Amino acid sequence: MHRTIIRNGFVLSMDAHLGDLPQADVLVEDGVIAAVGPALDVGDAEEIDAAGTIVIPGFVDAHRHAWQGALRGILPDCSLDEYLAVVLGPLGGSFRPDDVHIGNLLSVYDAFHAGITTMLDWSHINHTPEHADAAVDALRAGGIRAVYAHGTAGGPEWWAYSDRRHPDDVRRIRDRSFSAGDGLLSLALAVRATGHATPDAVKDDFGLARELGIPITLHAGFRVTGYPFTHVLDLRELGLLGPDVNYVHCTTMTDEELQLIADSGGSVTVTPLVEMNMAHGAPPIGRCFARGLRPSLGVDVATSGPTEMFTQMRVAMAQSRSLECPQEIDVPFAPSLGVRDVLELATIGGARTLGLDDRIGSLVPGKDADVVLIRADQINTMPLTDPVATVVAAADTSSVDTVLVRGRVVKREGRLVDFDRAKLLGEAERSRDFLLAVAGMTPDWLARRQEASVPEPA
Ligand SMILES: [Zn+2]
Repeated sequence: MHRTIIRNGFVLSMDAHLGDLPQADVLVEDGVIAAVGPALDVGDAEEIDAAGTIVIPGFVDAHRHAWQGALRGILPDCSLDEYLAVVLGPLGGSFRPDDVHIGNLLSVYDAFHAGITTMLDWSHINHTPEHADAAVDALRAGGIRAVYAHGTAGGPEWWAYSDRRHPDDVRRIRDRSFSAGDGLLSLALAVRATGHATPDAVKDDFGLARELGIPITLHAGFRVTGYPFTHVLDLRELGLLGPDVNYVHCTTMTDEELQLIADSGGSVTVTPLVEMNMAHGAPPIGRCFARGLRPSLGVDVATSGPTEMFTQMRVAMAQSRSLECPQEIDVPFAPSLGVRDVLELATIGGARTLGLDDRIGSLVPGKDADVVLIRADQINTMPLTDPVATVVAAADTSSVDTVLVRGRVVKREGRLVDFDRAKLLGEAERSRDFLLAVAGMTPDWLARRQEASVPEPA
């Protein structure tokens, strides 16, 4: 048996019964949390010194398109309209399986760097079966816990009132990559909503997921110019609402639609920074809370924003408070969303959305050891007074000291483990160069550098 003891951290278990433990240890045995408490007497175990750190469950990123990892920052000023036209158009259309693999691998290490131990990879880049295999293989090679949500390809033939059915290849993928069940990867179906696909196609796609017994996740209720989406009302009409459905964004949904999600037992995921920056509409965080829905958080796309949860937590909090703040000068303001609420959304809340809360999301004996140590003695986090505030209001990715996924250390003392930075950077640059060139998007500075580095013909 392999035993690891994480010693003397300020443990935020995110569990109502265990609570916060100002100086405590976490004992891990073969990847599973065996005990949490002060001064554990454990005998022989590998020791991780957690003094000066806050120990939390790994962050859960409930919505990301990992394949876009190498497209970081290419569209920082775009609207959702432009994003759909470009990223699901010429850029996405040019992806080769290797590009998917590199994007996903970059996203996995990027996640570890940021203390994200679980992500839902919403993968709509499946031009061929090899594209899907490349995505899954990269998630497995990187060693992250992931829900691989198999989607279609991009492109108008799939996304503009399409009559095509979701690729049946998902059955092969299940048999190839998910039959053994290694405990870290699971399968979901990333389906299209009405408007993207015809009602009959949506019905068949939901039917496919339910026949396979896997969860459904879909983009629903967001602003695209000229498309007055009423996704949830449509799904009710089709009789498709259910507790197995995860709705992403929900920024233009009416209260009635949010109530239908709550009543049907579905889940909501918001990606606050991207939704606000790219004009999806306002993240419905407060409106969800008012209906007992606790929206999980996702980073969504590297093309337009940072890919970590600190930003998402802070933006979620600031946005909901900004909407709540009374206009009347005589009415005092008391925020309904606090730092502990958003830390819950980013940990146990995400686990609930992904149906993994029996395995992860809080630090309690019996759950898998997905654990993150946040430095509380850095210049940007010191001095430690309120550990939840330190994590949510002060820390950033430079504060993420050590990260474990099911007991395996993937980041130690600020450095990624088993990570060849130069190799991945070279691969990411080559992939990006190819994709931008095909799409005619190479910036001038890069084109000049590429020309300069090409040797003159003899
Ligand atoms: Zn998305």
